[in-house]
Amino acid sequence: MLREQLNRASHEYYVLDRPTLSDAEYDSLFRELQTLESAYPDLLAPDSPTHRIGAEPQSALAKHTHSVPMLSLANAFDDDELRAWEERLIRVAGDDIVRGGYSAELKIDGAAVSLTYEDGILVVGATRGNGSIGEDVTANIRTVRDVPLRLIGAPPGRVEIRGEIYFPFNQFERMNEARVAAGDPVFANPRNASSGSLRQLDPAISASRPLRFYGYAVASDDPSSLPFRTQSELLKSLRAWGIPVAPHARRCDTLDDVIAWCHNVETDIRAKLNFAIDGGVVKVDSLRLQDDLGVVGGREPRWAIARKFAPDIAETRLAAIEVNVGRTGQLNPYAVLDPVEIGGTTVRLATLHNEQLIRDKDLRVGDIVLVKRAGDVIPQVIGPVPERRSGTERAWTMPKRCPVCNTPVERDADLAAIYCPNVACPGRQLEAMVYFASRGAMDIRGLSYARIELLLQSGLVTDVADLYALTVDDVLTLEGFQKKSAASLIAAIDASRAQPLSRLLTALGIPHVGEIAARLLARHFGSMDALASASVDQIEAIRGLGGVIAESVAAYFHDQSSRVLVGKLRKAGVTLDEPTVATASGVLSGQTVVITGVLPTLSRSQASGLIEASGGRVTSSVSKATTFVLAGTDPGSKLEKATALGVPIINESELLNRIGQ
Ligand code: NAD
Repeated sequence: MLREQLNRASHEYYVLDRPTLSDAEYDSLFRELQTLESAYPDLLAPDSPTHRIGAEPQSALAKHTHSVPMLSLANAFDDDELRAWEERLIRVAGDDIVRGGYSAELKIDGAAVSLTYEDGILVVGATRGNGSIGEDVTANIRTVRDVPLRLIGAPPGRVEIRGEIYFPFNQFERMNEARVAAGDPVFANPRNASSGSLRQLDPAISASRPLRFYGYAVASDDPSSLPFRTQSELLKSLRAWGIPVAPHARRCDTLDDVIAWCHNVETDIRAKLNFAIDGGVVKVDSLRLQDDLGVVGGREPRWAIARKFAPDIAETRLAAIEVNVGRTGQLNPYAVLDPVEIGGTTVRLATLHNEQLIRDKDLRVGDIVLVKRAGDVIPQVIGPVPERRSGTERAWTMPKRCPVCNTPVERDADLAAIYCPNVACPGRQLEAMVYFASRGAMDIRGLSYARIELLLQSGLVTDVADLYALTVDDVLTLEGFQKKSAASLIAAIDASRAQPLSRLLTALGIPHVGEIAARLLARHFGSMDALASASVDQIEAIRGLGGVIAESVAAYFHDQSSRVLVGKLRKAGVTLDEPTVATASGVLSGQTVVITGVLPTLSRSQASGLIEASGGRVTSSVSKATTFVLAGTDPGSKLEKATALGVPIINESELLNRIGQ
């Protein structure tokens, strides 16, 4: 019964890429079966999932026999199970284990593949399949952007590189949204999306999916030919051959170091990654010891173990859908959930984006839903579990009146969004003020969300300009302030008066005007007055700004309430000019640069500052006129556009080289 249930779940998971159990449910049933089988060995059947790897390969794809089997991993669900694993190792291989140390790596939740390179050229790419025989997916693998078709450096003549194909979170969301729009079923999680995309019969479909790859192992018939003796050296060799290796891998001298690393990954690192992990993998570092320790039951190496984390996808009940009002007045629905533990934190709220998405996903209040904590900290509702419906669930519609100020809402035809049109709506003011004070804008330290809420509730401020009239005594009337904290808040507000016009323009939250557009506008017009009286054509004439931004800026300054606000800011002594900078000459003079992704050491503003100081211009969209794109990690569609247009792409160190830093 249990065996059949697990076998069915494996088929749905590996072959159909449509799991019906959560991984945690599967893992606990698997444990139950293992315990039963060890208590009653007679129960052990040849088709038991405890003795099998993955699933039989699908017939439609050609089969590939692995020269060295691709194994699964044993699991440890807590620190004690990790310690028990070390004790078993010491019993088999003695104290050399303690001396040899471990390699601790992220356990990427994707699809395992083996890439065979001959004389440095990729000749075969295959899935794990049942561990001995996988599916030949070479044509699909060739479309994965970071799988090198040719290795660099000095790899052995024939080498099999093993690793994981994964689907980045941000791309996963984009693809699921597109699938919803096209009426296709959404993928339950990035792992199923990677495996499903990789096992397509048509490589063009795989090519359209933004799959990525991280390598972590090398298989060889002749290990003595390999230029490394430890797993940590192996990872270095992979990098030297041009294979991407997942970040955060660490050599640990002791198991205590391993345990500390695992905790750090689970609590700090995991939520910041743009790809799914379901744990850490701990490996005996010495390859000689690995060889001595061998394989258990034909299924898993004795020398490695997966330290599984709490799942970052969980099921819970959608208790209610509520709406908040954004700074532009847009009504944003969000999910109120029955509290659920995901990846080490309790989740109670999740975003739902907009009304359309709720309709497309057919989310109903009372549904059991799948919730995920992705690379960012904002949890997302993946979708309902329709099989778990009882019939009492209720469909949801957007309110007809603003939930904060009760003004009838309006629909923006273009954006399919719903707005509260009342500019004085306290909900809008709150979000607008939070944005005004934020880091990339006026950067008012200490003016937190909660404090802004207090200020608005007390009636001391009604718009951002009122902040500048506040005194220490005013602030002291608010709950939770002492003399010192009130004085430092007022000092921070005061200091923000000196921010240049470009910061103020960003802070005002004019639709479509982000940091880069604000900088271009401020540099070009020099003062708020010149900008406020400019025509759409004059604004559009600035290189790097399009018609949408020009229309939006002109409409903003045309509006009476904006003019009143600017007048109040002027009276409050806020800077309305942009200091002139001498940028005419420099190594990047005449060059136009687009920045995308997260740079390793520089922030966006620092990079823009350096480029501009060297005479370059930073614009927000890639076109044929772009000289080069500066790309960091998780670059997104700008990089794809640059590749399509043949625009050169450089990284941060190359930029620093060019400008002589
Ligand atoms: P696994 O995914 O738990 O571990 C083995 C795999 O980890 C390797 O094959 C490799 O692909 C991967 N891996 C990622 N990073 C690695 C690294 N740095 N070093 C080495 N390997 C790394 O094991 P499995 O055999 O693929 O699958 C079993 C698991 O799959 C179960 O524990 C369960 O969580 C899940 N599963 C779920 C269902 C379901 O219905 N939800 C069904 C079957 C299996």
